[in-house]
Amino acid sequence: MFRYCPACASENIRFEQNKVFRCPDCGLTYYHNTAAATACVVRSEAGLLFLVRDREPRKGKLDLPGGFVDPGEGAMDGLRREFLEELGLDAAPEALTLFASFPNTYPYKNFSYNTCDLFFYMDAPGLTEADLRLEKSEISAARFIKPEDLVPEDIAFESVKKAIRVYLALPR
Ligand SMILES: [Zn+2]
Repeated sequence: MFRYCPACASENIRFEQNKVFRCPDCGLTYYHNTAAATACVVRSEAGLLFLVRDREPRKGKLDLPGGFVDPGEGAMDGLRREFLEELGLDAAPEALTLFASFPNTYPYKNFSYNTCDLFFYMDAPGLTEADLRLEKSEISAARFIKPEDLVPEDIAFESVKKAIRVYLALPR
């Protein structure tokens, strides 16, 4: 959060409605907009693919592959890039199906980011851990977990818990 106006250095800057900084002294208005983020449920015979987070927030908890959408990217482009970075896996955009979206807050360093999480699923028959090249700075391990063995408390984020519930209830 800004303690001083980034334009005029006034201490009177205010953060309003959980989204906008306004400075009464110079008129600055800055929207701390919701960021788009993607995540994907990857299913193979071995189960659903989860990644064990190796950094805060929620280090050691389970997450799905995905991440923030970068400027200039569509959601599928962002997810494809994250797949390559995190897993060394190339996912064709047509293999991805959007099935849910939930809001999330992602605390990182001094900021809390409001995100709009977009959840996709992808069937990856035959995929195993041996096919993955994990990004070791962010992920400590990959685990394929059968839906019946999944413990919701092990999942890092509420939005992911909700999405998994929706995913498992999909008519298939
Ligand atoms: Zn100002």
